[in-house]
Order: sequence, then C-alpha cells, then structure tokens
Amino acid sequence: MKTIDALDVPGRRVLVRADLNVPLDDGRITDDGRIRATLPALRKLAERGAKVIVCAHLGRPKGQVKPEFSLRPVAERLSELLGEPVAFATDVVGESAQATVGELGDGRYALLENLRFEPGETSKDDAERGAFADRLAGLAELFVNNAFGAVHRKHASVYDVPKRLPSAAGGLILTEVGVLQRLTESPDRPYAVVLGGSKVSDKLGVIDNLLGVADRILIGGGMVFTFLAARGHEVGSSLLEEDQIDTVRGYLRRAEEAGVEFVLPTDIVAAAAFSADADHGVVPADAIPADRMGLDIGPDSGRLFAERLTGTKTVFWNGPMGVFEMAPYAHGTRAVAQGMIDSGAFTVVGGGDSAAAVRTLGFDENAFGHISTGGGASLEYLEGKTLPGLVALEG
Ligand code: ADP
Ligand code: MG
Repeated sequence: MKTIDALDVPGRRVLVRADLNVPLDDGRITDDGRIRATLPALRKLAERGAKVIVCAHLGRPKGQVKPEFSLRPVAERLSELLGEPVAFATDVVGESAQATVGELGDGRYALLENLRFEPGETSKDDAERGAFADRLAGLAELFVNNAFGAVHRKHASVYDVPKRLPSAAGGLILTEVGVLQRLTESPDRPYAVVLGGSKVSDKLGVIDNLLGVADRILIGGGMVFTFLAARGHEVGSSLLEEDQIDTVRGYLRRAEEAGVEFVLPTDIVAAAAFSADADHGVVPADAIPADRMGLDIGPDSGRLFAERLTGTKTVFWNGPMGVFEMAPYAHGTRAVAQGMIDSGAFTVVGGGDSAAAVRTLGFDENAFGHISTGGGASLEYLEGKTLPGLVALEG
C-alpha cells in the first residue's frame, strides 16, 4: 500500500477519510480517542502544505439528515485538539462543501458533514454509490484513507473514492494492519484471546478462525450465555443467541480436539433488571435464577481470567466482560484489563467499546501494546476476510 509520503501534496486538495465515530451523550463527546488517533495524519498533511478535507461518518442516520448525528461537535473538538481552525461544511458534497473547499488555504483544515447523511455512501447499488463517490472525489485531487474502523465496509468513501483519485493509506491503517498481521501470522505463544461484548452473533464467527490460531479463548460479556446454554445451563433473561447454541457446541467440541482451552466464567453477577440500581448479586454460572439477567462475570471469574492470562505472550481482547458503563457491572472488565497489563504479554485491544472501557475505567492506554480504533474491521481481519477498503488501496 502506498503511504502518505508517496503523495505529492503541497498546495493540493487532499480528501482524508477519517474514523471520527465517537460516542455521544446528548451532543457531548464522551470519549475522544478516535479524534486523537486521527491527529498525526492530519498534521502531517497540513505541515506539508496540503488543503486537508476530512470526511467521516457518525452513527447510523441511514441516508437521512438527522441533526443528532451532525459532526459539528466533532469539528469543534478536532479544532481544539489541533489548535487550529477547522472549517465545517454543513453538507457532504453540496453547496456548503463546495464553498468550504473552495476557500480552503494551504495547510488548512475542513470537515464535511456526516457522510451517512447521503444515501449513496452506504448504498448496495454500485451505480448509486458510484455517483456519490464521483461527487465526493470531485472535491479533491488526492485521497488518503486513515479510517481503519471502516475498511471492512464497501462504502463510497472507503471503496469507490480510491478508484477515482491517486490514493494512499494513512498511518493509522498501516499500524493496524501491521499489528493484525503479527496476530494472524506469527503470534508469540501462548496466545490468548478474550471475547465479550454484546454483538454476539457477529463475534461468534471469529471463534471459527481462532480455533486454528489461539491457544486459549476466554469468554465473557453477553457471549457467555450462549456458551452456558450450550452446556445445558439456565441463563434466565440474559443475552442469548438461541439459534447459535449448536454452533457453539461445535466450537467446544472442536476446541477439545484441537487442544484449545476454552475458559468460561464460574460465577456471574446477575441482576433483576438492566439497570445500575437493580437488585443484583453473585451466583454460580450454572445456577442463574430464571428471573435474573447476567450483567458481568463474577469476582472468582475475574481472578480466574487474570490467572489464565499470566504467562501468555500475546493477548487479543475484544468486547467488555460486562455492562461496564454501570459501576456494579464493571468489575470483570477491570479485572481482565488489569490481568492483561500484569501479564507482560503483547496486548491488543480491539473494539470501540472495549477501547472506551479501558479509558473510562481509568487505565493508562500506554500500558497496552496496541489499542485498535476499529472493532468490526479488526475482527473481520482476524476472521481472514478480505477488507474492501484495503483492497481498494492496493488496486
Ligand atoms: P466492542 O465495541 O468492544 O466490540 P460490543 O459492541 O460487542 O463491544 O459490546 C459492548 C457492549 O456490550 C457494552 O456496551 C456492554 O455494556 C455490553 N455488554 C457486556 N456484557 C454484557 C451482558 N452480559 N449483557 C448485556 N450487555 C453486555
Ligand atoms: Mg461496540
């Protein structure tokens, strides 16, 4: 893949696809990690005299203009962090975008409104997507993709624009791909993978591939209950993918044959409702009351997981161990994060919420080997899928 250094950027309009999909609460950015991760590439281009036109998506407005998904708060935060003005276009490729780009000086920054306000961005129809990509590419002379978090999407700004402009991969993509290559091709062993979170059906697919690579797989978060159900246990009203129970049974069987160790929690924090104030307590993992839902792994499991990370050389973690956003259910996630740090292994955190958990629970990001900005993209890479955004940059 071509790098930014290979592009002749001085005085030219460079469109940068960035990943600025930050969590928002009432218009307030609750974690600006993705904005911070974008800064080096933008600064590098501006320092070389480029006119830097940033485009990104936020949430899922589904092709409609929805003010609650506006990137305006992101433009403000980006400007604060850069210490430079960021001109904000109130549309993606319309009059405002044209005018903003037209007025942009060398070494200056602009941000376009949410790409997903345009139906063409995510359209499955090649012609519709292509027509939008024509207009987006028309704003610039060169293209840089720095949005690792979006490379698994066949979207206009990821897949079609690089076919229309001389393109390069930003530093963020190069770093991510380097780390993931190391995990898939030559991980130092023992190699442990910790999986959790709530996107259970998405993540079960990764296990298929990991069974051939990882030495140990630790399961927490919402995924646990499909495993417990597969072993015949009651899971109450916990998250459950009923139609995946057989798949999970297959994984358990294959793991045994392949000598891969599955570590499941021995105890669970079970609550009367999905709420921080709900009545809750620790129960054995094989005896969850029918009227309770599991919202975290229990304290014994936290110790067990940390112990099973001791002595490993590589750890990949995706998905919080519990509903860490609520204090009573944050213990398991904290225990695993601490266990990773204490292990001394090369540690990789992948997944938007996992990365946010590390920061909001007060861990030092630098204590981890690598914190990936792209959850879905890193998982698909580990699954061995080809990622459209990377293919387009190679072509
Ligand atoms: P990531 O973004 O790191 O890939 P996911 O998006 O899959 O992770 O899941 C993150 C969410 O999973 C968190 O918001 C957390 O509250 C939720 N979660 C974790 N454990 C449970 C559980 N037992 N029940 C319901 N939700 C859970
Ligand atoms: Mg998530």
